[in-house]
Amino acid sequence: MSVVHQSLTEAEGPLHPDAILEAKHLRKYFPIRQANPFGEKRFVHAVEDASFALYPGRATALVGESGSGKTTVARMLARLYDITSGTLYFRGEQVHLSQHTSALRAYRRHVQLVFQDPFSSLNPVHNVRYHLSRPLRVFGHANSKRDINEQVLALLNRVSLTPAEQFIEKYPHQLSGGQRQRIAIARALAAQPEVLLADEPVSMLDVSIRLDVLNLLLRLKDEEKLALLFITHDIASARYFAEDTLVMYAGQMVEGGPSDNVIQQPKHPYTQLLLSAAPDPDRLGADGRNPTKLPARGEIPSLIHPPTGCRFHPRCPHAMPECRERFPGRTDLGGGHWTNCFLYGDGGTQSSPITITKAPSRTKVEAQNGFEMPPEKNQE
Ligand code: SF4
Repeated sequence: MSVVHQSLTEAEGPLHPDAILEAKHLRKYFPIRQANPFGEKRFVHAVEDASFALYPGRATALVGESGSGKTTVARMLARLYDITSGTLYFRGEQVHLSQHTSALRAYRRHVQLVFQDPFSSLNPVHNVRYHLSRPLRVFGHANSKRDINEQVLALLNRVSLTPAEQFIEKYPHQLSGGQRQRIAIARALAAQPEVLLADEPVSMLDVSIRLDVLNLLLRLKDEEKLALLFITHDIASARYFAEDTLVMYAGQMVEGGPSDNVIQQPKHPYTQLLLSAAPDPDRLGADGRNPTKLPARGEIPSLIHPPTGCRFHPRCPHAMPECRERFPGRTDLGGGHWTNCFLYGDGGTQSSPITITKAPSRTKVEAQNGFEMPPEKNQE
């Protein structure tokens, strides 16, 4: 079985016919409120020219440090944030950004977001029955009381909260963190989505239950052919649960492709830096050292006045004069692997479609296969 990856060019329309959701050249600038109304308008340049595609039954990890723009990308896809510029395609059809309420609701039925914090994403004054029955009613999946009750019980079973009857009347404060996150996932599933955006869904959970919630998401992705966007700051573990990986730095998407290629043969200096900070037993050399070690310089830049050109250039040991002038084009490296870095080209060198062998599906993560959960919560 194969998946067709195409170079992202300036061509009109969607480039990935198999994709369920495709983003082209997404930008998000947040205006900064200022004391002087006549002063120069300033913006946080949170996301710059992000292009990627999500496929049914495949998990894509979006990785990067805090403040890299990962959450902003997910919120734009969920249409919680307006998009400054760029285009979204859902099932090959352009999503109009000035949608009125009913069109927006129809879109959100297909694209659901699971938030990072299960403690604040549920309303403490409502019980589980209310949280799960509301989307069923709003999206018209159930009408009668009996139908709603049956579907709520089925949702609880799907997220392995059993016996379901014991959970249906509980309030958030009566649930553990892992149980709350399962309710949040069940609430997203109640809409019957085709795309699930999971924003660091396990980073605020106890280490002992992270693997269970992760495996639940993988099972749902597989059974329901969901396109799963999994946001994480832990690039080493992304390989174990995502077929594809995208890397972001300071709002720019710098590398992507099948997870094995990106993580075993990282090309962009920032990906190498991330990996060198996250040791993985599978990548250690014969001498027990990390072969991708890169000396880190400097800090993540301000996104109010981001560096020109490639935003990584103040920290990059390979920076060239042209890196300060403009952001390089996307260069295909073969097998669906790409990067935006002048070390490998300037984009457009291989514009024909590339057929790659589909990476083995990630269905279950075992604790003993070298996988380690992120060590601490992350508040992007
Ligand atoms: Fe470094 Fe230039 Fe590549 Fe950016 S484009 S990562 S500054 S070599």
